[in-house]
Amino acid sequence: MTRQVRCECGYTARADSDDAVIAMVLTHLETDHPDLVGTETAEDIRGWIELLPD
Ligand SMILES: [Zn+2]
Repeated sequence: MTRQVRCECGYTARADSDDAVIAMVLTHLETDHPDLVGTETAEDIRGWIELLPD
């Protein structure tokens, strides 16, 4: 199943594992939302993951 995380800015990360989608979101936060780095942790992001049926 595909993992998806939608950011409030409209960015959508999709990957086929939890760790991969979390890494994509962390990179997105660093580039687009540096004020959230250190506030939103990998465990927070894990809670945002939606599962998309393939
Ligand atoms: Zn964003």
